[in-house]
Amino acid sequence: MIVVMKAHATEDDIRTVVRMVEELDYRAHVIRGIERTVVACVGDERGEFHQLQHLESVSGVERVMPVLRSFKLASREVRPEGSRIKVNGVEVGGPRLTVIAGPCAVESAEQVEGAAEAVKRAGAHMLRGGAFKPRTSPYSFQGMEDEGLKLLEHAGRKVGLPIVTEIMDPHDIDLVVEHSDVLQVGARNAQNFSLLRRLGKVRKPVLLKRGMSTRLEEFVMAAEYILSEGNPDVILCERGIRTFETATRNTLDLNAVPLLKEWTHLPVVVDPSHGTGIWSLVMPMALAAVAAGADGLLIEVHPTPEKALSDGPQQLKPRRFAELMTALKPVAAAIGRSL
Ligand code: PEP
Ligand code: MN
Repeated sequence: MIVVMKAHATEDDIRTVVRMVEELDYRAHVIRGIERTVVACVGDERGEFHQLQHLESVSGVERVMPVLRSFKLASREVRPEGSRIKVNGVEVGGPRLTVIAGPCAVESAEQVEGAAEAVKRAGAHMLRGGAFKPRTSPYSFQGMEDEGLKLLEHAGRKVGLPIVTEIMDPHDIDLVVEHSDVLQVGARNAQNFSLLRRLGKVRKPVLLKRGMSTRLEEFVMAAEYILSEGNPDVILCERGIRTFETATRNTLDLNAVPLLKEWTHLPVVVDPSHGTGIWSLVMPMALAAVAAGADGLLIEVHPTPEKALSDGPQQLKPRRFAELMTALKPVAAAIGRSL
């Protein structure tokens, strides 16, 4: 159920509603929109839901209505205008697109600083890089871990870009929170519910990637795990799914973009690097993602992709990334957005 407050409801009215919701053994999440505040009531659906209906007579309440979808806090109904997430002055989900770029993995100070300077120069808004890498084989490069994280942080600070990096193990949460601005959950952990719950307690935005075989409803329910623990800042990332097609690494599901935007208020970004696995497909699919309504892109960029320790075939050279940024501008403008 959601309790929609009147536009002029006071803080006292909101507090009273929260108290009454909690007295009925539901958790109250206060969601402040531009025009009005909504109190989302979440809890056991077998409980006394009809009792919440009585809140309609409380001062400052406009109406009480059920959220029909299985996900509640992520549903667009609770925030029709969409969420805008702030990351150190960069807004995700507003009219301006957010481009997050950098190498698959942090490999050395020189490599990550080279990538950071190149993506900054081309106009990227955040720097990404993996310090903890989820690899299919235990014998492949696993990432530089703590040291890589610090190199990434240093490179980001040097060029003035917020940083995004993957968190794999709940034991590393404090470390990654301290040294990064956005925590990425990789496709392989998309339904690691204990990790998602822990990230719900963190005060940094989470970039949640779709699992390679998660349906869109399961994907949004994974976001709901984070939201329901109190972290409102979740960015969804479509990164391709496994299909029968083997010509590309994954099949980038651009249907997901407009559908997720219809269902949820969360920003949606697209990762055409993992979505295709082939560098030459990254630009066309990035343009298509923006045309489909994505709020941003996640692009792998490496100073020398041929020497990359992971995902070399899909990483863009700095020059090609700069070309992509130029090509994005007219597409963004055509749908009323800027870069
Ligand atoms: C990555 O971003 O480098 C990564 C490992 O992505 P995914 O989890 O989507 O495979
Ligand atoms: Mn990668």
